[in-house]
Amino acid sequence: MNDCIFCKIIAGEIPSSQVYRDERVTAFRDIQPAAPTHLLIVPNKHLDSVNQMTAEDAPLLGHLFFVAKQLAAQEGLAESGYRLIVNTGAGAGQTVFHLHLHLLGGKPMSHLVG
Ligand code: AMP
Repeated sequence: MNDCIFCKIIAGEIPSSQVYRDERVTAFRDIQPAAPTHLLIVPNKHLDSVNQMTAEDAPLLGHLFFVAKQLAAQEGLAESGYRLIVNTGAGAGQTVFHLHLHLLGGKPMSHLVG
C-alpha cells in the first residue's frame, strides 16, 4: 500500500523504534505512548483491519498474539499484566488502516476503555 505509514515503517522507509522483526511480523514502540510500555505489533502483510482478514490469515493473527506474549515478558509485564487492543474501524478509534495489535502495560488500568 503506497500511502500506508505502517507499510513504510515495515519497509524501513520511515524510522521507528523497532523491538522485534520476523518474516511475518514487525513490532515497534508507539510514537504517542498511552502507557509506560506501548508497543504496536503489525503483520508485514497489509490488511486494512480485522474486517479484511480471511481464514488464510488466521495463523498470521495467531502469531501476532504469540509475539505479543513474548514481548510482554521481555518488557517485564507477564506478571503485572498487560492489555492487548485491536481497534477495528474509525468508530472504534482506528486511525491507521493497517491492522495492528496494541500492547499496553506498566501502569494500573481500569476495567475497560471508553
Ligand atoms: P489506532 O488508533 O488503533 O489505529 O492506532 C494507531 C497508533 O499508531 C496510534 O497509537 C499512533 O500513536 C500510532 N502511530 C501513528 N504513527 C506512528 C509512527 N510513525 N510510529 C509509531 N506509532 C505511530
